[in-house]
Amino acid sequence: MAKGEDADVSSTQAELEYWAEQARRIEWQAFPRTILDDAGGDGPAARWFPDGQTNLCFNAVDRHAQARPEAVALRHVSSETNETGHYTYAQLRDEVCAVAAMLVTLGVGQGDRVLIYMPMIPQAVFAMLACARIGAVHVVVFGGFATDSLAARIADAKPAAVLTADAGSRGGKIIPYKPLLDAALARVPECTPSVVVYDRQLADAPHTDRRDFDWMTLRSRCAGRPIDCVWLPSGAPSYVLHTSGTTGTPKGVQRDVGGYAVALATAAAQVFHADRSDVFFTASDIGWVVGHSFIVYAPLLIGATTLLYEGTPLHPDPNVLWRICAEHRVTLFYSAPTALRVLRKQAACDPAAHDLSALRGIFVAGEPLDEATAAWIQQASGKPVIDNYWQTETGWPILAVPWHESGAQAGQTSKLGSCGRPQRGYVPVIVDPDSGTPLPAGEKGLLALRAPLPPGCLTTLWQAAARYRDTYWTVGPDRTLYSTFDWAVRDANGDFMILGRTDDIINVAGHRIGTREIEAVLNGHPAIAESAVVGVHDEIKGQTSWAFVVRREQPADGVSRDDVELAASAGSAVDRSLGAIARPSRVIVVPALPKTRSGKVVRRSLQAVSEGRDVGDISTVDDARVLDAVRAALASPD
Ligand code: ATP
Ligand code: MG
Repeated sequence: MAKGEDADVSSTQAELEYWAEQARRIEWQAFPRTILDDAGGDGPAARWFPDGQTNLCFNAVDRHAQARPEAVALRHVSSETNETGHYTYAQLRDEVCAVAAMLVTLGVGQGDRVLIYMPMIPQAVFAMLACARIGAVHVVVFGGFATDSLAARIADAKPAAVLTADAGSRGGKIIPYKPLLDAALARVPECTPSVVVYDRQLADAPHTDRRDFDWMTLRSRCAGRPIDCVWLPSGAPSYVLHTSGTTGTPKGVQRDVGGYAVALATAAAQVFHADRSDVFFTASDIGWVVGHSFIVYAPLLIGATTLLYEGTPLHPDPNVLWRICAEHRVTLFYSAPTALRVLRKQAACDPAAHDLSALRGIFVAGEPLDEATAAWIQQASGKPVIDNYWQTETGWPILAVPWHESGAQAGQTSKLGSCGRPQRGYVPVIVDPDSGTPLPAGEKGLLALRAPLPPGCLTTLWQAAARYRDTYWTVGPDRTLYSTFDWAVRDANGDFMILGRTDDIINVAGHRIGTREIEAVLNGHPAIAESAVVGVHDEIKGQTSWAFVVRREQPADGVSRDDVELAASAGSAVDRSLGAIARPSRVIVVPALPKTRSGKVVRRSLQAVSEGRDVGDISTVDDARVLDAVRAALASPD
């Protein structure tokens, strides 16, 4: 055996011992004797803790309800309806049991899918945990999606039951859910689930006899029926969650039970330095992976408190998030760069004017966090900022800024702009996208992960094993590298920087430039709040970059309001930082950028509009009218 292989074997052994140790963070009905079955080193088929038996709901709810029944599990705040409240672990267990009893009454059993299309109210969390309790597979669909997106997910999941509410509310506007759901179900006639409607009395909900049930009526019919946690094989599916659809058709990521529980309990400790005394406020939605992992599962798995927020960062005013942090003594706040950029635009946003003394850190993920925004939030809040990089597929952070280097202290701002280092369990490598050959520090390439992926990552795509293998596992010798489809670079220190998605890389006269590099410079311009850069076909250079920029509400004194001047000074800033090759050949001032409902910029739609092409499937774009404004801006002379 060659020397290198020897080292590999011992490091694998160390990994197995490490995860065997982490597995003790949760309770098992049967502790796994086998830690990893990787079927002969085949990445796609790795199975963690295969002979273990456990239950996510037992670990997230029951064990704490037994040990600390009065500890607060869930706080909820709605800036839409002004309702607030909380549930102790004992109350949470009772509520979860009630919903589990409703599901069982409707005939839902282990392995059946339950689609949850609900606003950010406690009942949505009860619903997820109730599924986990009985071994049903939850499929949460973001409440902001309308008929098309919903119908696609119903057709993919074929749920036995759908749990919904009469309406959600966003920025003060009521959005009736039930008519959207009815229309979506009508599109998938082969699927005939029972529908349970939680009536918040916000909107009229049309009723279909023999299919629809009123939540509270059904609940009282099932009250008191004891429903035990079902012990599940570690590898049983816990949930299916579709990716955000930033790059096209969403993929149904399938997760297991045991690996996910172990991974999240571990991540809570490693990335967040959290324990049961913490109050997590993840200002996201349960429809996204951060919501699954850091609103619901991680905080509850470690017995901490989680705060569920219905509302936007701006309603009723741009300090609402900081008020909640102060009022509820939040210790860990988790958000997305897009939310911070929106807040930075607002002159009135002032985190430091609130009592943030309990707050230990601000975590962000989802998109590149540019230096300007990172520096702003750090300065405005006085708190460390911990950027972390991961995907729906992985379920928990791949890379994260180590806490002690997060820039909390003066003079430690050098890490801004990096999303940190690999978390234990992940082996990220930057490779040449064609050959899969690893590249040295300082060279840009495709970010890939070596097999096996650690616990908690996707086990396959729902009912699409071939798509799973052919999408993610096509790189490297013997296809043992998982492709993240992100473009990145690692510095000599081992810190990673995400440069954009592989699809978004711009190739100007043979030079590959990440959109994020140019955007980071533009966002540092005193008049610019946010930007999106795309590659546009060019006869001579192959591609040139075009920059779409949104102005700050109140630019710094002395900054011109003239668009032509802005374009010129933004172009020169890129020249100075990155060189003339990266300078956008057009800078277009637009009122807003097209984003997915989770706030990610949909660059492909900007590129299509710029190249005069059809924008294709934009069902995941939040507000399609933004693209009309972009078209208008492009049509007006520079
Ligand atoms: P789809 O896969 O359907 O196109 P999506 O990739 O946006 O949608 P998610 O899983 O929600 O779906 O997002 C993961 C992606 O978000 C990553 O692959 C990366 O491109 C980006 N991302 C996440 N966190 C960070 C971060 N900290 N810095 C830079 N980019 C990030
Ligand atoms: Mg993706």
